[in-house]
Amino acid sequence: MSSDEKEFRRLEKKALRSLFDSMVSGGYRIIGPKIANNAIVYRELSSIDDLPKGWIDVQDGGSYHLEQTGGEAYFGYVVGPDSPKRFLFPPERTLWSAEKNGKDINITIEQDEYPKTALLGVRPCELAAVAIQDKIFAEGEYVDPTYKARRDNTLLIAVNCTRAGNTCFCASMGTGPRAGSGYDIALTEVGGDNGYFIVESGSNEGDDIVNSLSLNPATSHEIDTAENAVNETVRCMGRTLETSGLKELLQSEFNSPRYDDIALRCLACGNCTLVCPTCFCSTVIDTTDLSGNRSERIRRWDSCFNIEHSYIHGGYIRGSIMARYRQWITHKLVNWIDQFGMAGCVGCGRCITWCPVGIDITEEAGAIRKSVKENVKVNKG
Ligand code: SF4
Ligand code: SF4
Repeated sequence: MSSDEKEFRRLEKKALRSLFDSMVSGGYRIIGPKIANNAIVYRELSSIDDLPKGWIDVQDGGSYHLEQTGGEAYFGYVVGPDSPKRFLFPPERTLWSAEKNGKDINITIEQDEYPKTALLGVRPCELAAVAIQDKIFAEGEYVDPTYKARRDNTLLIAVNCTRAGNTCFCASMGTGPRAGSGYDIALTEVGGDNGYFIVESGSNEGDDIVNSLSLNPATSHEIDTAENAVNETVRCMGRTLETSGLKELLQSEFNSPRYDDIALRCLACGNCTLVCPTCFCSTVIDTTDLSGNRSERIRRWDSCFNIEHSYIHGGYIRGSIMARYRQWITHKLVNWIDQFGMAGCVGCGRCITWCPVGIDITEEAGAIRKSVKENVKVNKG
């Protein structure tokens, strides 16, 4: 459907509860933004009163804190450490367990319990990340049945961004701050308590919910006001990543001395991969209890910053931190494009914010580009 054919409707801010109630009546559990542990994270919501009204997150390299503005925006924050990944591809899942019963061993394939879920407040960059994870887990020759079942059972309620974080660079990656596709419903929040949401449906399931609300069409002035707010977000975006020729640049600069410099700062903690909404590596762990009667196999998120992650018979492929950082950034910005036809980075900025030493993917890629330009100048000079 072209944007000209799209229907934009107006939902009064005061009527947000009706959207929530409509999803609950449709049998959905609602996961959305909520304050926990001094951050805005995705949790199950019992009502719209759980939303972080008036709260914003203030982010920079290696820092994050919340501030109450006294404002009336429900979605004035940007992104927290969580993303839809936590629900579609959970951090840990028991695959099977085995119980010894005398001479018998009973093996149980663990069933995945995942009720019909509406994910509320999904940002455009997160929608792009879900599309990337879909390619990995739900498309092609090898499908992860658990991911696929969860994905099929999830409604995505996106919220376009009307405020950019200091570490955001989705505009550079073409993934935001406006949702292009992949949502069931998209909202744009305008104004305070007397304001409204512009509502767009993106699927049949979205249509069912939106139609149940009997909303009036938005006026062209209301649509333009929402559009302008999103456009202003692009102007205020904290970071940029120059993507033109970046894949070729990183390929040719595989031995850039910048990687040695990064290795002196990087702690190999893996935070950047755990908060990244597109990273998909996992490991499998087998455990046995002390009695020796019960064992289980667990799948758990892993990180390419863990030295064990590259272990094969005979040793580690990426023994140094330098090699592990280079693997991470080139997988995101080079090999992913070859594998999946798109970069593995959606510009959410989480890896910058949650890196304890503030290592910044945009700055590092920019430094490699700059050093090449300087070398060219020196050679010409
Ligand atoms: S690499 Fe960093 S900025 Fe890119 S998607 Fe992952 S966490 Fe977000
Ligand atoms: S880049 Fe930062 S977050 Fe990532 S492993 Fe290194 S220190 Fe940790």
